[in-house]
Amino acid sequence: DVTVQAQILAVLRSLQERLGLGLVLITHDLGVVAGHADRVAVVYSGRVVEQAGVSELFADPRHPYTRGLIASIPNLEESRERLFSIDGSPPALGRLPGGCAFHPRCIYAEARCRTEDPPLHDIGGRFSACHFATTLPPFHSASLAAAELDSGSMAP
Ligand code: SF4
Repeated sequence: DVTVQAQILAVLRSLQERLGLGLVLITHDLGVVAGHADRVAVVYSGRVVEQAGVSELFADPRHPYTRGLIASIPNLEESRERLFSIDGSPPALGRLPGGCAFHPRCIYAEARCRTEDPPLHDIGGRFSACHFATTLPPFHSASLAAAELDSGSMAP
């Protein structure tokens, strides 16, 4: 319930400020992330695949899974026949695919993605576990990104 959620988040924020606490939120709600986080770690198949400050993460995601999540946010000012979704389903944790665990669902995947598991690496004060983190094409607004991801036109 979003009303109760807002009340709980307000209590947490108040406690955080009053007591000087750090706060870790684990959520699928990107609105909560955007509104409450300073730094974000995106997890796929039990592993951090991207970590960055909240503004840079939403403006310029450097992992394809993060791009898919942001592109999936509905835009009320735009008319689309269907919402964007990432193809496929997350793998079972006991049966992860070889190479990059995201490769069966990734529109940017290349041959090496099927065999080489990319480590989480520093790309200038932020981190990504993608072989192509620094060469992915520019990311646009969520709605435009969704259209481009749908058509595959953002693939290098
Ligand atoms: S390493 Fe390859 S499959 Fe994995 S996220 Fe990057 S492009 Fe996609």
